[in-house]
Order: sequence, then C-alpha cells, then structure tokens
Amino acid sequence: MKKIWILGGGIAGIEAAISLRQNGFDVSIVSNRDFLFIHPISIWIPTREKEFEDVCLSLDELAAVHGFDFIVDEVVGIEASKSSFALKNRGVVSYEYLVIALGGDKLDYEGIKNTTSICARPQDVLTIRDRIDELLLQGGGKIAAGFAGNPIDTNGVRGGPAFEFIFNIHNMLKKKKLRDKFELVFFAPMETPGQKLGEKVAKDFVRFFNKIKITTHFGKQIVGFSKNEILLEDGSKLDADFTMFIPGRCGHAMLKNSDLPLSESGFIKINSYCQAEGFENVFAVGDITSLDGPDWRVQQGHMAEVMARNAAFNIFSIENGSDARRSYLEQMNMICMLDMGDSSSLIYRDSKREFSVPMPLIGHWLKKGWGRYYRLSRLGKMPRIPGA
Ligand SMILES: Cc1cc2nc3c(=O)[nH]c(=O)nc-3n(C[C@H](O)[C@H](O)[C@H](O)COP(=O)(O)OP(=O)(O)OC[C@H]3O[C@@H](n4cnc5c(N)ncnc54)[C@H](O)[C@@H]3O)c2cc1C
Repeated sequence: MKKIWILGGGIAGIEAAISLRQNGFDVSIVSNRDFLFIHPISIWIPTREKEFEDVCLSLDELAAVHGFDFIVDEVVGIEASKSSFALKNRGVVSYEYLVIALGGDKLDYEGIKNTTSICARPQDVLTIRDRIDELLLQGGGKIAAGFAGNPIDTNGVRGGPAFEFIFNIHNMLKKKKLRDKFELVFFAPMETPGQKLGEKVAKDFVRFFNKIKITTHFGKQIVGFSKNEILLEDGSKLDADFTMFIPGRCGHAMLKNSDLPLSESGFIKINSYCQAEGFENVFAVGDITSLDGPDWRVQQGHMAEVMARNAAFNIFSIENGSDARRSYLEQMNMICMLDMGDSSSLIYRDSKREFSVPMPLIGHWLKKGWGRYYRLSRLGKMPRIPGA
C-alpha cells in the first residue's frame, strides 16, 4: 500500500489518519505540537471547569493505537507540482499522496495584541483563564467578548465560541454570587450576529442577552483595539478590563509559500472530493479549505471529520481503480451544540431542514460528555458512534 503524508494533527488530520489506516495505508503525520487540542471543549478552561490537559490528546498515544508514524516539525512550504513539502528541521520530503489539515489563520487588526482569542493558539486559552482569575481576585470588572467575520469570505467566521465564552462567564459569576460585580459586554459588526445558526436562533440570542443583562453592541465595524478599548468605525469606543475577541478567519499563512490554488482569502480551493484543484494526489480537509455550499456553511470539527473520511475513501478508490467518490457537498450540514453555561441549544441545518432544540441542563452535560467520548473513542477505548 502507498504511503500517505498528513500535514496537521488536529481533528481533521487525525480523522484522516484513522480512516486511511483502516483502509490499510501506510500513514505519517507531521504536526507542530505533540497533542491534538480538542477545541470544542476548551471553552471550559477559562471558567476552570476543565484543565488544559483535559483538552489535549497525545499524538504519540493515537499513533500507537492506530499504527501511524508521527513527527513533530513545522511545515514551511508545499510544492505540489513537484509532489514535495518542506519541513523546518527535516528539509524537503516527497510524497505520493498528501492530505493537508493544518487549520486556518486569523485576520490582523490594529492593536490586536490588546485582545486574546479563544480560537487561536492553545496556550492563549490559559492567558484568558489567568486574566479572568485576576479580575475575580480584584472583585469585579468589565469583560467584553466579540467576534468578526472576513469581509471578503463568508467562510471566514467563527462566532459560536464567543457566545459560549460569555454565557459560561455569566454562569460562573452567578455561581460565585459575583455577577452583580461584573459588567459583561458582547460585540460584533453584524446587525444580528449568529445568522448562520438560523434566524430564529439569532433572535433568541438577542432575547437571552437581554434576559441575563449582557450589554450588546452590534452593527458597527471593528477598526481596532487599544489598551482596554474596542475601537469602532464611527469613532466610538467600548471600554473593558479584558477583551476576548475572535477575529475573522483566513487561510493558513504558510500557504503563501506553496503553489496550491488559493481563494481570495487564502483558503485552499478544493473540488467536492476534497482534492486541491489541479492536483489529483493532494487532498485538503478541515479549516484550511475554502468550502462551497449554502451561505450558512461553516468550518466545523464535524465537517472536518466528514471531509477527512471522504478524502480517505476517495484515495482508496483511486488506488483501487474505482470510480466511486464521496462529495462533502452531499453531506453538508451544521450540527452545533452551543453551550450556554448551564444548558445548551442543539442547532441543526441542512439543505432541507433547520431547527434548534433548547436542552436545559442535560445539553450542557451532553457536550461535556462528548469531550470524554471523543477522547476515549479516538483512543479505541470505546466504540465510535456513527456521525459523532
Ligand atoms: C473554541 C472553539 C470551539 C469550537 N467548538 C466547536 C463545536 O462545538 N463543534 C464543532 O463542530 N466545531 C467546533 N469548533 C471548530 C473545530 O474545532 C474546528 O473546525 C476543527 O478543530 C478544525 O480541525 P482542523 O484539523 O482542520 O484544524 P485544527 O484543529 O486547527 O488543527 C490544525 C493542526 O495543524 C497543526 N499545524 C498548524 N500549522 C502547522 C505547521 N505549519 N506545521 C505543522 N503543523 C501545523 C496544528 O498544531 C494542529 O494540530 C470550535 C473551535 C474552537 C476554536
């Protein structure tokens, strides 16, 4: 069987590795860290409901369970026309098939260093936690959370974790009987943030913000940040002791050092079989790709896994001379269990249906349970539930 190189040891890369190994391929993964960071459950680090280690899954352990090779190195370039990529320490490596799963990057804003994002480097979540701890010690303060999209690409937005962050902070303060000592603020440039989750959900959020006394500032472009300030397009400013901000998203910066086809915002252009346009032996999956499909499409962990499994299937088919192919567009849907601190909202969208189901209490614990399920099932300690 041919050897497949996978770049990136996140949710997409690991799913591709597991599926390719199940199909008998020889697999090697390159990642710049030795753990998979389970982003969806990192939302509980700032409220100290999860420790950093709870959110990390050792790539060595995964490699041993599934029988793939794994090296820690930095991918610094890809030359698809020569079927090779470059690593910072090991130099140039040739491949027969390549699966690229390096995730995305974020847009820059003036003064962005005055904010911290829950959607950036894993260690940034610890900075958020420590800053919240300081404010708790201080006995009060003003915490702002917000997100923005990429003005030229509807793929470039991730707002869910911003909602989850502020709802969880609200809930933690309530439990500590300190809610009245803190002012919570939520900001976004859209008139109605959360539209991708559905119109009803977006309206429900506005009602919920009012109910739990989180001040909202919507509909003004964010032009930058200064110390303890969020700067808006009309010259107005919002002040905060701490700002958690998820910038609009774009393609991985390393791709500028590649000959791969990129969208205007730098994501890899792929066909529906997850092949990089123009390269039959290069597949790209997860957050690094430019997704096609309906306006509400989102780059999610769940879609990253669908794409990874499809890529593995399609490589297997090509190798076996079969015409069978799997398209991610046919499986495009959104499944989001949005945590609200002490409950959650299950949101589902596909081409035919759209619904949201409030899940008081049990939903919160179901999402926490998913984290445990993800870890154990990927380590082969419990069976996989199809689609989960
Ligand atoms: C806070 C948060 C909450 C979320 N909640 C949900 C949720 O509830 N449901 C859901 O479906 N999705 C959720 N998501 C989205 C989901 O986590 C992502 O869609 C998913 O992680 C994408 O997986 P990926 O493998 O494409 O990218 P990543 O998870 O970003 O993995 C990329 C990998 O590539 C490695 N890498 C990057 N650059 C290099 C390089 N140059 N060289 C070597 N290695 C490199 C990184 O170390 C990493 O291992 C959430 C995301 C965040 C941040």
